[in-house]
Amino acid sequence: MSEALLEVRGLNVVFSGFHALTDLDFTLRRGELRFLIGPNGAGKTTLIDVITGLTRPASGSVRFDGRELVGRREHRIVRAGVGRTFQTSVVFEELSVVDNLDLAAGFRRPLPALLRRRRGVSDAVAAALDTIGLGDLADRPAGVLSHGQRQWLEIGMLVVQRPRLLLLDEPVAGMSRDERDRTGELLRTVARDHTVLVVEHDMDFLRRFASTVTVLHEGRLLCQGTVAQVQADPRVQEVYLGR
Ligand code: ADP
Repeated sequence: MSEALLEVRGLNVVFSGFHALTDLDFTLRRGELRFLIGPNGAGKTTLIDVITGLTRPASGSVRFDGRELVGRREHRIVRAGVGRTFQTSVVFEELSVVDNLDLAAGFRRPLPALLRRRRGVSDAVAAALDTIGLGDLADRPAGVLSHGQRQWLEIGMLVVQRPRLLLLDEPVAGMSRDERDRTGELLRTVARDHTVLVVEHDMDFLRRFASTVTVLHEGRLLCQGTVAQVQADPRVQEVYLGR
């Protein structure tokens, strides 16, 4: 078993007396693709917010690669190698797909198309473009992308920053079946070089693409295991699947 990249221990988050997370222990091993599920209000987004420094816990620790993240500012956590997607889009619609990737990669400003043709895109941007399968649309403005393509661009914009841990919040929400399949394949590709935690509700998607699933309920860890194990757990059926 590979070593832990992320270790959450005894995490408690309280909002004005309401316990959003209670005594949560949670571990991600390096190279894992883990799915996080649970009914609305279970604490999934709160967990991601704590890992990324947006929310400060009442107590507990979040160790990333052996270093404590609790108390660190958000940008320092990003610099330590933690990247996340938000439910609101971060894509610049008027810029091309490749310029969005360039910007995300930390270029001071996007190169004009002519100059890029001469200099070429960086290896990291070219690799990200290939990974997300948008090579044919590289020079089109991001505003013309379909909903699914835009989500892939956002994943590319994270990957190009070379984080060690990617936190993705409902990446297939609102996608067609075909787009969901392509996203599942993309997550598998990304997980070859990264540790990935995905918040996802879509059980059909989980059955096809998830290996290990963690279930939260009312701020506590309910159970974790393979999709089959989790689905067979009577507690999960009661609180989450409703069947
Ligand atoms: P999930 O992502 O699993 O749907 P959340 O982590 O968003 O759940 O929320 C967990 C609980 O914490 C919910 O009951 C939510 O209303 C509450 N909560 C989240 N953020 C805040 C906040 N900033 N202030 C008060 N309550 C909050």
